[in-house]
Amino acid sequence: MLELIELYEECEHSLQRARSGPRERVSGSRAIGISLREDVVTARADILGVLASWAGTVAEARNVTGPGRRDVRELVRFLADNLDWLLGPATAGDFTSEIIEVSAAARRAAHPDPVLRTALGVCPAPDCHSTLYSEPAGSRTTGHHRIRCDAGHDWPPRQWLLLARAGARLPLTSHAGAVA
Ligand SMILES: [Zn+2]
Repeated sequence: MLELIELYEECEHSLQRARSGPRERVSGSRAIGISLREDVVTARADILGVLASWAGTVAEARNVTGPGRRDVRELVRFLADNLDWLLGPATAGDFTSEIIEVSAAARRAAHPDPVLRTALGVCPAPDCHSTLYSEPAGSRTTGHHRIRCDAGHDWPPRQWLLLARAGARLPLTSHAGAVA
């Protein structure tokens, strides 16, 4: 769930890159111009909406005070504090599927360049049927890749052999050293 903060900020950076003209803060501004990509704006709003909605649910059900502000970090911190309850039988299914959904949408919005991504098959994580991708990590010239799926499972290099055994089509021929 902490990844949501990262994604939220990636969306914000993506908006800042897209904007021409003088810099202004994105948050709190409604007059943000027509150059903004709608999917990014929507993804950010959806992250906040889902987090705030669950914070409200928790606050009401547990009779505690939720975050006073609609701030992504405060909301995530509050939800993390109540994660045991959220992952209880009454809410776990809805909560996790909504978090996964907004994460995936934000990731697609923040990283719209599909050319750099290579589909590797289906993510082997339990109950995950999302597409697994390799994509450049860090500087595009270093040749390093990261592997993750649309739902947000991040597979570090030490697990790539596991992925290969699970049937993923890993592009290992040119990066075989990374597996060792
Ligand atoms: Zn996955």
